[in-house]
Amino acid sequence: MSKVMIIGAGGVGNVVVQKVAQLPDVFTEIVLASRTLAKCDAIAQNIDRPIKTVAVDADKVPELVALLLREKPLLVINVALPYQDLTIMDACLEAGVHYMDTANYEPLETAKFEYSWQWAYQEKFAKAGLTALLGSGFDPGATNMFTAYLAKHYFDEIHELDIIDVNGGDHGYPFATNFNPEINIREVTAPCRHWQDGEFITTEAMSRKASFTCPEEVGTFNIYRMYHEELESLTQHYPTLRRAQFWMSFGESYLKHLEVLGNVGMTGIEAIDFQGTKIVPIQFLKALLPDPSTLGPRTHGRTCIGCVVTGIKDGVEKTLYLYQIKDHQDCYKEVGSQAISYTTGVPAMIGAKMIVQGHWQKPGVWNMEQMDPDLFMADLNLYGLPWHLVEMNDFNLDH
Ligand code: NDP
Repeated sequence: MSKVMIIGAGGVGNVVVQKVAQLPDVFTEIVLASRTLAKCDAIAQNIDRPIKTVAVDADKVPELVALLLREKPLLVINVALPYQDLTIMDACLEAGVHYMDTANYEPLETAKFEYSWQWAYQEKFAKAGLTALLGSGFDPGATNMFTAYLAKHYFDEIHELDIIDVNGGDHGYPFATNFNPEINIREVTAPCRHWQDGEFITTEAMSRKASFTCPEEVGTFNIYRMYHEELESLTQHYPTLRRAQFWMSFGESYLKHLEVLGNVGMTGIEAIDFQGTKIVPIQFLKALLPDPSTLGPRTHGRTCIGCVVTGIKDGVEKTLYLYQIKDHQDCYKEVGSQAISYTTGVPAMIGAKMIVQGHWQKPGVWNMEQMDPDLFMADLNLYGLPWHLVEMNDFNLDH
């Protein structure tokens, strides 16, 4: 018996429900709960298995606890927004349910990305005998596993890590985000931080640019260094890392729009008074932008996300690149969504599978790389995200 409750019925929630539903022997019952019941029902009606749908406000712990006690799932898969992480963790503790998410907690009032709030739950989850798995999406998620897999099988010590997230897809809009616009814009406009010789160095957002040629003719892209949450846990769990950086590709049009929107205050996260009503500019902007879950039919091209790791094996230095390439239209054909939601939803399903099958049940709060990567990596190949590993001894982003 492994009943799961998925919380959040957005772009990622849609993919998670579909991938979970494809494995009836693993996930015997599915409940989909989110703020807007109609969105849950729209997802459920495309699935040829019974899915129970429920409206819930995940900001309200008592409401969530009552739902969890009524439904008694083994695990909650949290694919709502990062703002809900702590209330869902509190509810899971109270109801005795394992927990998993794809993004670290972020307070609504400040765009502050760190694991401290969730790591503080370590003792509570350990005492309750419950597992909390943090960040089982693609990045974080698969990227943590790629690093762990390389460190386990190919290196004695790892020294440099570059996580490179390229979206070579095009949706045809001058400006749209591939996942929740509010979360996306908060992330890319935050100051950049990268790990260098034992500390995080802060630089201005988007101030460091490089060019990267993806394998398999995906293309050559401008990538920009930015902060991403897996840098915090990976540098903690791999203390031999001397440098760790995260890079993401952005097109000219996206950057131009973001600059103008930022300059006029439209990306602000503090409420302003507008004709007697309080509005938060970034939330208003979200209402104007295309819903990421509708981009599937019009997005063409491929994503290419991977980790370049340099380290030592048997006294010899080498550099390896472990990557995954996914075609947007292939995702659309399979689950009706673009590749960003797909590449997040599949690792979420696999992380959930690892927990419900008992492989990763370990009381406490864990980042992905604290788990053994082998079964997870094998499942990526089986469930839609096959990966590749190449040697890359001429790798250099420093020019
Ligand atoms: P969406 O905005 O499309 O979906 C979020 C869903 O959560 C919506 O259904 C929304 O409901 C629901 N929700 C929001 N607040 C509440 C609440 N208080 N109670 C109940 N439900 C609520 O986001 P995405 O699907 O694009 O992203 C989902 C998560 O995945 C985010 O945390 C995002 O950061 C993460 N992510 C992780 C990635 C990774 O690789 N690790 C990559 C991409 C995303 P409503 O529809 O009513 O607003």
